[in-house]
Amino acid sequence: MDPSPGTAALLVQAQAAPDTLGLADWAALLAADGPTDRTALHAAAYAVKRREVGPVIRARGLVEFSNHCVQNCRYCGIRRDNRGAVRYQLDAAEIVAAARGVHAAGYGSLVLQAGERRDPAFIEFVAEALVAIHAATGGSLGVTLSLGEQSPAAYRRWREAGAHRYLLRIETSDRGLFRALHPADQDWDGRAACLDLLRDAGYQVGTGVLIGLPGQTAAHLAADLLFLRDRDVDMIGMGPFIPHDGTPLADAPCAPARQLDLGLAMIACARLLLPDANIAATTALEALEPAGRRLGLLAGANVVMPNHTPADRRGAYDLYRGKPTAADTRAALVALADTIGETVGWHEAGDAPRWRRRAGRN
Ligand code: SAH
Repeated sequence: MDPSPGTAALLVQAQAAPDTLGLADWAALLAADGPTDRTALHAAAYAVKRREVGPVIRARGLVEFSNHCVQNCRYCGIRRDNRGAVRYQLDAAEIVAAARGVHAAGYGSLVLQAGERRDPAFIEFVAEALVAIHAATGGSLGVTLSLGEQSPAAYRRWREAGAHRYLLRIETSDRGLFRALHPADQDWDGRAACLDLLRDAGYQVGTGVLIGLPGQTAAHLAADLLFLRDRDVDMIGMGPFIPHDGTPLADAPCAPARQLDLGLAMIACARLLLPDANIAATTALEALEPAGRRLGLLAGANVVMPNHTPADRRGAYDLYRGKPTAADTRAALVALADTIGETVGWHEAGDAPRWRRRAGRN
């Protein structure tokens, strides 16, 4: 079966000249959720992915080293006011051991993620951990941080200590929706300004959004896509919203099939709009559907983040209901790549082609 004429025409245009599509066009693509339209969208995005970043899956070992958090995002299971969260913090030796594990597994790249802290002791702790990680792994690992909103000095300190990339999701490009999801002291403009600070500090910058939030429309999501394009980001990490029982949004509607569908459609549209970015097939897809990450890769994602948090703490980094705690083995990753006729980029830091082009590294 062919896609509807409207979708077919938009996909031809999106593949040839994505910047000529506007908000209403992206919203129309997102809203066209019939099975043949979706198949055509995913296939168009996958073709762009193969052309721009090749048949290679980039793996980043993910170490979630602390769930202490000063922020109070209404959707998030590790928010400050969730008294039910069992808090933990890995010590420096545990972080270095986890990084060694990532290196030994052949992943050329490490992501350090945690809840947000801004106190000087934390800034220094992270800087020292970065230096120790590079010393222990021969300086060959690409290191990404995902530690929230910080001062210019903190971003610079960590960059100088050896972090290359930073992920900071804007969560939504819509100020009104952002306000509804966060307490008054968390401000959209402040978060957006951090993306500029990160670029200025020399990081490869990644951002992304939550998909399928209460009150979020196709127009909001289309605006999110244009935000990613206008910010010219190197990396995109975004995934479906899934409620967590210990949060104010515990009872928010969440139909798993719908969340998955929208998550995949957003990945596909992002690939069409930013053809040479690194785009993650995130864990939240897998929480909704066991094959979720594979579907994400086939919709245009090229990055996966195998969890290398020590097994006994993994469950405590509990962002949303049903977050998977299984570890990917190398063999599982090879099998995943095999099923879609791709390979894994072992031992490569795997910078986004978009970054290399902007930085004149090609
Ligand atoms: N402190 C860091 C990391 C936050 S956790 C920071 O502020 O960037 C990483 C991401 O998990 C968040 O950016 C958010 O998009 C996602 N997340 C949080 N709660 C979620 C939920 N209920 N469903 C899906 N994703 C969620």
